[in-house]
Amino acid sequence: QDYCNPTGAIRDSCCDVQTVEGVNQAITPILKKLVSTRFFRHYKLNLWKECPFWPDDGLCMNRDCSVATIDESAIPLAWRQHALGKVHTVSSSSDVFGMSDTCQYKAQDFCLVENEDDTEGVYVDLSQNPERFTGYAGVSAARVWKSIYEENCFNIVHKMTEGCETCNNIMNNGEQQKPTTGSSLAPPPGLSQPIQNPFAVVPNDRKDLDRLLNDLAEDPDSENEEVCLEKRVFYRVISGLHSSISIHICDEYFNQTTGEWSANLDCFVSRIGSHPERLHNVYFTHTLLMRALVKLSDYLHEYTFFTGDAKEEAATKKLVLDLIESTKACPSTFDERQLFQGQNAQALKEEFKEHFRNVTRIMDCVGCEKCKLWGKIQTTGLGTALKSASKRNRSVTLTIMMSISAKTNPALFERSEIIALINTINRFSESLRAVDKFRKMYQAKTHPN
Ligand code: FAD
Repeated sequence: QDYCNPTGAIRDSCCDVQTVEGVNQAITPILKKLVSTRFFRHYKLNLWKECPFWPDDGLCMNRDCSVATIDESAIPLAWRQHALGKVHTVSSSSDVFGMSDTCQYKAQDFCLVENEDDTEGVYVDLSQNPERFTGYAGVSAARVWKSIYEENCFNIVHKMTEGCETCNNIMNNGEQQKPTTGSSLAPPPGLSQPIQNPFAVVPNDRKDLDRLLNDLAEDPDSENEEVCLEKRVFYRVISGLHSSISIHICDEYFNQTTGEWSANLDCFVSRIGSHPERLHNVYFTHTLLMRALVKLSDYLHEYTFFTGDAKEEAATKKLVLDLIESTKACPSTFDERQLFQGQNAQALKEEFKEHFRNVTRIMDCVGCEKCKLWGKIQTTGLGTALKSASKRNRSVTLTIMMSISAKTNPALFERSEIIALINTINRFSESLRAVDKFRKMYQAKTHPN
């Protein structure tokens, strides 16, 4: 098996692996600079909302699970609480933030957007809180992943399209490589001692956990090509996110024996490299994100990356425009025109949105602050990408690009959505760079000369 080395077309997208890697090489240095700007590295969110689906599992107490917050005085004045109140009094056309008072999402949203005037919210400097190995695992993490995959069950898809089958069929038959029983509790590769389960809740019966993990879905289209495109896209996006998180864990892995942070090849091979469809879904999700950037091109051209310092704002905008320009090397990464077509399309779209919003709600159940932070950012980033990709062109011309204008529709995206989108693109971009690194490590290990 050719571990870690995908080639060829990316299913359900219009791109191939090599092109995506080429684009990724071009955008990596721009993204690096962009996510270190003041506008893009500060994010406000509520890390302590109650889990709406089940009683608290307890919080991971590992040092690496905690999030370093920053004092509000360190961030631009206009972003702060009292200034945000004033922003609401200006007319919506000049409201660069597009804040809404109370509602957590607008009908067009695919995710619950963090409410920036939430009094419980905290500012976080993302550069100080890297997404990496934290030790969060066990029942709590498995339950969150399971609930996320269960959102892939659509009623309307089943009813509307011939050949689409039920969620149960997908869960039971679509799986290519079921997880080995109980594998999650075994020590991760490279560790001689099991990671201590930091959670108060442990399974009474080990079989419960095994059943839980065995219920998880793998790639729905691996054996059954009849699964609807919308369902495949939904699955690929969450599986792509899961893979990307796993790649970061393996790329910045804490070896408890040596006390060092380093890339762990065994971790990568067992979690990702030996499951080609998981790796494939990272590439797929990357193409969706690239497509969203291109669709948002007009909006971002007009957008004010507000910090209160005109020079800094102009420099940030230039980087964003450079980023968009670089993605154009692969113009047709994902064809959103295929989505939500045919009978019941609108109802299906609503259901798709509701399910994706649930995924963002589930993030409040993650029992590790750092994982929750990046989980929230990335589900918001992906929700933003889906929202922009699902915008239809109403122009009479045949171009599929829709002009989403920040001038005529300033409230279309919240500031937090724009920040989340760029940071999510950066996470996936780094994932692909890490895949390249692991590929070389694997080759060096298997063919030392
Ligand atoms: P898990 O990754 O928990 O996977 C469970 C099962 O899901 C697997 O056995 C397999 O059947 C299936 N599966 C795995 N990957 C895929 C895929 N890509 N597509 C489809 N199915 C798949 N831990 C950290 O150390 N740092 C973090 O930043 C972090 N962030 C997290 C964010 C979220 C939102 C969640 C829910 C968890 C996070 N975790 C993080 C925990 C981490 O994702 C794993 O749950 C944990 O490392 C245990 O891994 P595992 O080997 O048991 O398998």
